[in-house]
Amino acid sequence: MPVRDEAARIAGDIAELRHAIHREPEIGLDLPKTQQKVLAALDGLPLEISTGQALSSVTAVLRGGRPGPAVLLRGDMDALPVTEETHLPYASAIPGAMHACGHDLHTAMLAGAARLLSARRAELPGSVIFMFQPGEEGYAGARHMINEGVLEAAGERPVAAYALHVSSNRLACGVFSTRGGAMLAAADQITVTVHGRGGHASTPHRAADPIVVACEMVTALQTLVTRKFDVFDPVVITVGSFHAGTTDNVIPDEARFWATARSFSREARGALAEMVPRLIGDIARGHGLTAEAAYAGEYPVTINDATEAEFAGETIATVFGAGRGETAEFPITGAEDFSFVLEQVPGAFVMLGACPPGEDPEAAPTNHSAVAVFDDAALADGTALYAELALRRLARG
Ligand SMILES: [Zn+2]
Ligand SMILES: [Zn+2]
Repeated sequence: MPVRDEAARIAGDIAELRHAIHREPEIGLDLPKTQQKVLAALDGLPLEISTGQALSSVTAVLRGGRPGPAVLLRGDMDALPVTEETHLPYASAIPGAMHACGHDLHTAMLAGAARLLSARRAELPGSVIFMFQPGEEGYAGARHMINEGVLEAAGERPVAAYALHVSSNRLACGVFSTRGGAMLAAADQITVTVHGRGGHASTPHRAADPIVVACEMVTALQTLVTRKFDVFDPVVITVGSFHAGTTDNVIPDEARFWATARSFSREARGALAEMVPRLIGDIARGHGLTAEAAYAGEYPVTINDATEAEFAGETIATVFGAGRGETAEFPITGAEDFSFVLEQVPGAFVMLGACPPGEDPEAAPTNHSAVAVFDDAALADGTALYAELALRRLARG
């Protein structure tokens, strides 16, 4: 039976697991209940299973009956600090936590793929590493799992790595989307404190006003974006938080702001990390003040390997038909910690439309919304794609 038909046959079980995870969402690196559900779903399969130390990850290795390389499949498991308002029958039972990014689908689909691939173990030419990862939403769970050895779990580095991510909007249900090169942005955080000298607002020349200097920095950062970066290798800097002072007639001692920086190439990201702190420091010095500027790297650019992205596109066309896949015209400005895996292993990150059939994908609520709905209709084909990517990539050797 084709993998796709087998996935459809177990779709009910996959949906059941997904609903159970959805009802009990957990946030961050410690997801004990989700981990238990995954372990229960994998129970009885011929897998080598290990769990994380610093986080509640699950790594499962399937060793095929024939020799060959290893491939890695990633599914993230964590939820978001959002109170669900969908009123679905399987909606979150926990106020303040919701699977608003669809990671419950990824976990269930990956467990389904483990089942399908286990049934084909004898003919499998190599190994599959199933990476069930906590803490994607800001906790760099993938980096923790790499530190704990997930890339060495099969005894040798995987030759390729794939991740699927559902979308509640934009893509029609069942449509896959990927591209070679930058797939998602790098996201970094800029934290600035400008140290001045407080005083009376009527005599600013006797003080050192940090507010005007900080304002100049905010504007200069926008100028930096337009004057130092190629328009075809874009950068976004947004100051999302700015704090200083208490009232109109007092110059405060300091001003503080936070900004996010998004970039789409390693080069642009490296340039940001170097130029931003220097610019901030130089502006402060120019006015006789001092400033601390921290540029903290959060997630790198998610860069799809050109060959692996093309292979994923071909697999989608072969398994589901040409109309089911699209090449994304642009990268997504969000960020992903699967980027840490793709820094070390060539692979591809693939989006999958999970908007409820019949709803307009352009008008549907986005991922992270309290009313985002991800339809079960995407589960079987997502499961099938995970399994087919592994099977076909191992067959390639
Ligand atoms: Zn998310
Ligand atoms: Zn996500």
